[in-house]
Amino acid sequence: MHFRVLATDPTSALRVGVLETRRGSVQTPAFMAVGTRASVKGLTPDDVRSTGARVVLSNTYHLMQQPGIDYVERLGGLHAFMRWDGPMLTDSGGFQVFSLAGLREVTDEGVHFESLLLTPECVVDAQERLGADLIMPLDECVSADASREQTESALERTAAWWQRSLEARRTTDQALFALVQGGMFDDLRRQAARSAAATSPPGFALGGFSVGEPKELTAALLQATVDELPPATPRYLMGVGHPADVVRYARLGVDLFDSVLPTRLGRTGSVWCDLNGTELRLARRAALELDGPLRAGCTCVACTEWSIGSIAALFQSREQLAFRLASVHNLRVVADALHAARSQVVYHT
Ligand SMILES: [Zn+2]
Repeated sequence: MHFRVLATDPTSALRVGVLETRRGSVQTPAFMAVGTRASVKGLTPDDVRSTGARVVLSNTYHLMQQPGIDYVERLGGLHAFMRWDGPMLTDSGGFQVFSLAGLREVTDEGVHFESLLLTPECVVDAQERLGADLIMPLDECVSADASREQTESALERTAAWWQRSLEARRTTDQALFALVQGGMFDDLRRQAARSAAATSPPGFALGGFSVGEPKELTAALLQATVDELPPATPRYLMGVGHPADVVRYARLGVDLFDSVLPTRLGRTGSVWCDLNGTELRLARRAALELDGPLRAGCTCVACTEWSIGSIAALFQSREQLAFRLASVHNLRVVADALHAARSQVVYHT
């Protein structure tokens, strides 16, 4: 993997770059489509590509559960299984430590779920066998209300697990990103970023943001983190996908994003009708009367072939096609918002 910054916005820290992987290159800042269980829900790979997404993401924890790493490996790896020949990222299951908090216990050894033990070593091994191009180490993510002591202890554990992850590697053709945590504390964020940077990883994953804290705090902590990172290495902010947020954080110097938000909202009948992410609810009866595309100027298949009213009617009849069209459209809005931000930088410079 190779990353190059091509231009930087004179009015912000936004950088336009290109991430080159063995399976193709990606213009950054970029949004990655989430296919948690090896499928972007309801979409074919062609649908996903049509949204402008160039990287797809799957979750190691969920794939371990179903259909199992052995099974995916037998089918020729995750690219073959997903029918996706472009760049791919797998995350480590660290976020499930946080989101499935009631179901697990964290010890220095790893994370104990009811039916599964995740260790830094087995997470690296699973991802090497799945074969994604960008891979993540196991980490411990804390909630927004975690105390300083809880955050410090999670940070210490994440750092120890990072060393074990580096030692567990058997291949070198996948880019293993360092995962930067630090909770809601400015100095801990900086300290985590500095110690991750000292290990010279090919990329940085910024975790534990957008976990319930106010957006002003997200921006301030993100700024503190980015300040400590080397400029030539890509930064991936995990779990942020609202179009206004991705542009805001791209302007702080973030290069990659992922979130289930665009597709989850689409499946529940919310579509973004502008690049700021203003929501339109397809379930409202009034939506049936609206003519024209979901967003003026959008060239996604939903907007070029269907009117708002007809997609609302499909949604209100619980037709699967509505979920698919709304998901494709929302992914396209995030991609278009970042495309607009990139174009502005190129125009300025
Ligand atoms: Zn559209």
